[in-house]
Amino acid sequence: MAENERKVTPISEIGEFGLIERLTNKIKLKNDSSLVGIGDDAAVLDYKDKKIVVTTDLLTEGIHFNLMYVPLKHLGYKSVVVNLSDVVAMNATPKQVTVSLAISSKFSVEAMEELYDGIQLACEHYNVDLIGGDTTSSLTGLVISITALGEANEEDIVYRKGAQKNDLVCITGDLGGAYMGLQLLERENEVYKVSKKVQPQLEGYNYILGRQLKPEARIDMLKIFKDLDIKPNAMMDISDGLSSEIMHICKNSKVGAKIYEEKIILDKETSAMGEELNINPLVAALNGGEDYELLFTLPIANHDKIRNHPDITVIGHIVDASEGTTLVTTGGSEIELTAQ
Ligand code: ADP
Ligand code: MG
Repeated sequence: MAENERKVTPISEIGEFGLIERLTNKIKLKNDSSLVGIGDDAAVLDYKDKKIVVTTDLLTEGIHFNLMYVPLKHLGYKSVVVNLSDVVAMNATPKQVTVSLAISSKFSVEAMEELYDGIQLACEHYNVDLIGGDTTSSLTGLVISITALGEANEEDIVYRKGAQKNDLVCITGDLGGAYMGLQLLERENEVYKVSKKVQPQLEGYNYILGRQLKPEARIDMLKIFKDLDIKPNAMMDISDGLSSEIMHICKNSKVGAKIYEEKIILDKETSAMGEELNINPLVAALNGGEDYELLFTLPIANHDKIRNHPDITVIGHIVDASEGTTLVTTGGSEIELTAQ
């Protein structure tokens, strides 16, 4: 459908309650722990003998997302996923989310429905219930705040503070792709601003664009850890780049780490984009962020269990705090890591 045929209903036409109704009327609860969802003053949950983990993120237009090149449906999906990733990083299973919005008058009812299509797609994909939220107006731009709740047995929860000397440092997946995807989108947006007739050159870069626009939380790792009968000593998700995350784990655990450059996995599109834009893909992996992979440490006795696992890569090991947190380059030199 062309832009000018699309129906545009001002939110003022149906009001706040009308909008909440339009956005949430199809929602059905899936989890036993969700007793009561949207519609009363508060949701009611029953976690029985489980522990509950809670996490919140706040996203503001122009700071965390740019609607020039991020479709609202993708934005909705990603906003949920980044919270679920934090739950998973505690080794907990996500169960519920709340979604709060501040909406400026430039957004129509249909635009907010697109956002909610993405939110609900993520809820379906991750088997999570949308149990409430709040809706208000803003003077400029869109603000999205999402809270996610998850459950875990107390003994299964993994913190940042548990890393032990000699632990293996591991990551899932490859790094730097989301950052390179963002650089590509920003370049094409700049070109578009200069000449609206030029079609964006995005071919051949589906993987890194997907890493930026439609990231996934590594919920599959919860089962992989169980099946392998391993529990990380420390874990967090990689939202701000490997460098800053490993430093968080080291600081919280009062240890140091050695990471090996040659072990860090980069996708071929990440490397190709790096070459095209003259950005070192290693820098994207270390300082880029938004990959939403997991960084964790494991007792070295687990090495045989993970040695050939396709989802887990050992990138280094934990050392004494006095040795610092360093990157050993392919050339053999050692450099102190810093957070960007
Ligand atoms: P209150 O006046 O108590 O803030 P609201 O009228 O804002 O109540 O909300 C009514 C119901 O709709 C509540 O259950 C609330 O959790 C839910 N709700 C409000 N906004 C949203 C939203 N953006 N997404 C999901 N649920 C929402
Ligand atoms: Mg309200």
